[in-house]
Amino acid sequence: MNDILPDTIEIWQYVEKRAKETLDLYGYQELRFPIVEKTELFSRSIGEVTDIVEKEMYTFDDRNGDSLTLRPEGTAGCVRAGIQNGLLHNQVHRFWYSGPMFRHERPQKGRYRQFHQIGVEAFGLAGPDIDAELILLSSRFWKALSIHHKLSLEINTIGSSEERTLYKKALMEYLQTRKNELDEDSIRRLDTNPLRILDSKSEAVQKVVAGAPRFDDYLGDESRVHFRGVLSILDTAGVKYSINPRLVRGLDYYSRTVFEWTTDELGAQGTVCAGGRYDMLVQQLGGKAAPAIGMAIGMERLVALCDDRAARQTAMAPQVYVVSIGPEAEQTGLKIAELLREKCVRVVNHCGGGSMKQQMKQADRRGAEYALILAQEEMGKDVVTVKMLRQKSEQQQVKIDQIVDFISAIYSR
Ligand code: ATP
Ligand code: MG
Repeated sequence: MNDILPDTIEIWQYVEKRAKETLDLYGYQELRFPIVEKTELFSRSIGEVTDIVEKEMYTFDDRNGDSLTLRPEGTAGCVRAGIQNGLLHNQVHRFWYSGPMFRHERPQKGRYRQFHQIGVEAFGLAGPDIDAELILLSSRFWKALSIHHKLSLEINTIGSSEERTLYKKALMEYLQTRKNELDEDSIRRLDTNPLRILDSKSEAVQKVVAGAPRFDDYLGDESRVHFRGVLSILDTAGVKYSINPRLVRGLDYYSRTVFEWTTDELGAQGTVCAGGRYDMLVQQLGGKAAPAIGMAIGMERLVALCDDRAARQTAMAPQVYVVSIGPEAEQTGLKIAELLREKCVRVVNHCGGGSMKQQMKQADRRGAEYALILAQEEMGKDVVTVKMLRQKSEQQQVKIDQIVDFISAIYSR
């Protein structure tokens, strides 16, 4: 679990701002729901035999003896909130949320125990157009961050649950015949979650998988038409993708369209955004059936991909840093700082005294544009020395009673 310090927070805020702008362009509305939910919510939605529920959840009993869990992802909580507040029956909603998620994984680069996601979910729409919309939205977001050249889209369909049942059976039968070539993890999944074996990272397992039955042969017409519909919108919009028949996603609730945006600039943890359709989940969690699709963007990985120069350009460095020496100057400095803030100028007042050299060093470290200097000489002449810190130029003296107008004129231009 990481601390995020002011130095990197600039990039986070830059990414969050671009995210909000992009989501606004598509009419998505923010939803906030709790970080803690009943454990049952996650085991029922994500699935008992998934990595998350089997070994990654932070689960504890509260004082009433209820089993609670720190959310490992957002979709379950979002659906719970939608059902409980009557938002999902016969309605169309486009939601987004962001915040921390918790998984007790082995920590490594790009994989943390508290990490952050921006989640996007659309409810009440069954057609391929909304699947494509989510992908277009994400693609526009990458462009807004100027990282689109670093990401590529993989897409697949995992059919309806009936089609999956048939396929799973065929896959299991095949894998049984080659059980001795599988690794321990895959053998464990053989009876419970054989689809996950398809995306195993083990080379030996991948050799076995290469000869496995193909999902494609088990897809019904509707699933096929739906998938083709998604691809055709992407083609028209000029979004490039590659179809990856091994892409299955690790959570149980997905059906039909699944996709991932990946990069090869982050080493092993290259998936930055992952999503898919989950048409059965609302009903499964006790609501009236409603089609749905969602995606989650991993903030830590996204931030790592973003050029921090861009972020720093939009960062909020102070415009003015007030340097004052001696009690009288400090009082005047404080007054000027407040008057400037009245005019919406961003001011850091030094506070805490110190030599001219120390104070100027702080002004520079904070990246301020101007230093306003009030020392003995200035106080004697009723002036303020104005020093431009970001480029070479003559410093000048301005009368104290004119300094607020002088500075605010610079920033109102
Ligand atoms: P992975 O295959 O990387 O384990 P996942 O299938 O567990 O991913 P999802 O639950 O789909 O991931 O989460 C969506 C995105 O959230 C991931 O693509 C990734 O960017 C991010 N993410 C997931 N787990 C972590 C983690 N432990 N630390 C940081 N980011 C994470
Ligand atoms: Mg995972």
